Amino acid sequence: MGRRRRKGRIRWNRVFIVLFIILFIVFVIKLTNYILYNNKVYNTVVESSAKDALINKKYKKLRIYNKTIDLIKSDNVSIVIKNKNTKVYLESKNVEKNMDITVKTYNKRLHFDNFPKVKSLFIENKGIVKKSSKVEITLPKYLTKNHIVDVYGVRNDNRVNQIDLAEKVENTITIKPQKQYERYFITYIKLDDIKIKNSTVNSGSIVNLNIKYVPEVATIKDYEYTDIGDIFMINKDKKIVAKKAGKSTITIKHTYQNITKTATITVKEEKNNIEVKNGITYVNGILIANKTYSLPKDYDPGKINDDALKAFEEMRQAASKDKITLWIQSGYRSYKTQEELYNNYVKQNGKEKADTFSARPGHSEHQSGYAMDLNIIDSSFEGTKEAIWIEKNCYKYGFILRYPKGKEKITGYKYEPWHLRYLGKDLAKKVFSSGLTLEEYLGIDSKYKD
Ligand SMILES: [Zn+2]
Repeated sequence: MGRRRRKGRIRWNRVFIVLFIILFIVFVIKLTNYILYNNKVYNTVVESSAKDALINKKYKKLRIYNKTIDLIKSDNVSIVIKNKNTKVYLESKNVEKNMDITVKTYNKRLHFDNFPKVKSLFIENKGIVKKSSKVEITLPKYLTKNHIVDVYGVRNDNRVNQIDLAEKVENTITIKPQKQYERYFITYIKLDDIKIKNSTVNSGSIVNLNIKYVPEVATIKDYEYTDIGDIFMINKDKKIVAKKAGKSTITIKHTYQNITKTATITVKEEKNNIEVKNGITYVNGILIANKTYSLPKDYDPGKINDDALKAFEEMRQAASKDKITLWIQSGYRSYKTQEELYNNYVKQNGKEKADTFSARPGHSEHQSGYAMDLNIIDSSFEGTKEAIWIEKNCYKYGFILRYPKGKEKITGYKYEPWHLRYLGKDLAKKVFSSGLTLEEYLGIDSKYKD
């Protein structure tokens, strides 16, 4: 009995020892966890793309397959890894914890078999685990949203496993810490270069810059336009549209990297269709009389075209509501009239001078019946309220200012704020909004052969 009682007695000293051991084990586990996830766990963004490997000078050796390369003592050593499937082994003794190293591979995400004991591989993000319950990796902003990044867990510096992410990558990747991993890293493929091509497009069409990314599998391909010439505009779909003929450059810049490229784009008018019927030239169905294309001597409509006259009347009435008085000073002129007029000017001013303001017979738009000179036919008309009104409004009634200021070399004539050409409302509006002369709009020129 007494023995039993003695046996049943609690030996407190032993209990304390057992409890102490249990507590100690718990403490060690907790401490290990703390060290694993709070101190040692960190994350890295690995940049992988280029053709070479850059190794910090503190590394003594780089092993590619079984070939060991001794690294020379320079700041960086560049090694070309040609095979896309090359596995990169990094070996070093005396590795310092805070060493940075950049390893780049060609066109492929890095595959590490032997993970160096360095703080990071190309540190982009030195995120330290905040809580032992989760690993939070805050991504650089350019890796956020819909960009594919690979997350790897690392253990013992030589076991690297890709971790499947349950959630879509947003700003932060949250990983439940797994005991088998000491740390994590993210890879993305950095863009090395953007290539864009010079091209020729038709006016009114979308400019395709033919953008090529090097490498094509780069993770981030975002770019923005930093400079577009005034012959282009960005439409609501954020595409570049060629609005008028000419030549200009377009510059794009990668949103996050310092890659800027410029292409020269030539904008042509849509291919024109030039037809000659009974000696009269039509470009895309529009009768043309300028220095290049003349009207035959016997082309004689005898008066201003009816539609043009009706349009003028509509315009005159609209103008009078704005207290603007318009009248036709000179309308239709026959071949013969123009011949007399031109010859007179040549007599007075010489041929060269006369050609700048008067058409040679057959080359006058007035012979077509579609042209008219309004109000005052001399330079005093420039800048008057009537001239300003005409320039601003005539397209609404089917007219264009045929010889605008600054386009003398294209039209072949000096600025004539009084000379209108009837095209009909649709075409006049198109030409007006293009900001082009009729010659530019149709892709033709206006030059005498001699
Ligand atoms: Zn005129």
